[in-house]
Amino acid sequence: MENKRRKIHEELEVVKEGFANGVAPGFPLEQSEKDKMIDEAEVAYGQFLDALKCDWRNDPNSMETPRRVAKAYVNDLWAGRYTAMSPITSFPSDGYDGIIIERNIPLTSMCSHHHQTISGVVHIGYIAGEEGQVVGLSKLNRIVELFGRRGAIQEQLTSAIHNAVHQITEGNRGVIVTIVAGHNCVSCRGVKHQGAGMVTTKASGVFRQNTNLARKEFFDSIKINNGNHPV
Ligand SMILES: [Zn+2]
Repeated sequence: MENKRRKIHEELEVVKEGFANGVAPGFPLEQSEKDKMIDEAEVAYGQFLDALKCDWRNDPNSMETPRRVAKAYVNDLWAGRYTAMSPITSFPSDGYDGIIIERNIPLTSMCSHHHQTISGVVHIGYIAGEEGQVVGLSKLNRIVELFGRRGAIQEQLTSAIHNAVHQITEGNRGVIVTIVAGHNCVSCRGVKHQGAGMVTTKASGVFRQNTNLARKEFFDSIKINNGNHPV
């Protein structure tokens, strides 16, 4: 099982190991390694709060905060750097040659630059090849979790999800991924603008041509400009 996971991981990872949007060295980590990481990060975050002149040791609301923050990073916010996704099962497409779209996949991520949350949705479309394979729908959600739960740059995150879907649906005729997301680093700091959404799209195969009907079908389906979009 571990060897298979390692193989999937090597095909899908394009960012340098150790970078915030890459996996941690030694990925996937054992539970004991994660526990040690939480202990070390807890101490370091306490020092971070000391530097900010926060008397967290005596504040009932803050005394557990260094551990809470360390656990949130390892178990949730950056889980994709430490924990592998379960193996992906694919199935024969059985002659289905239409577009397959999963839209509104929830995205919770974190900006690598400011460590503020990114939240939005991911839309994924693909067309299986002649002898093609389709994947269980929830696997697309798992791919989003694997790459989203890291420090991220939305442009690179779009490419990483696209590359993963492309690899897993071997022989596909095209893959398209659109992310629509709000960045807390824009709304809460710096320019402090609420409600601005960032839209990124990565397309390959038949979806690359602006005039292609499958591409039009994808964008009609996700209806980015109808005013009802969540971001
Ligand atoms: Zn940012």
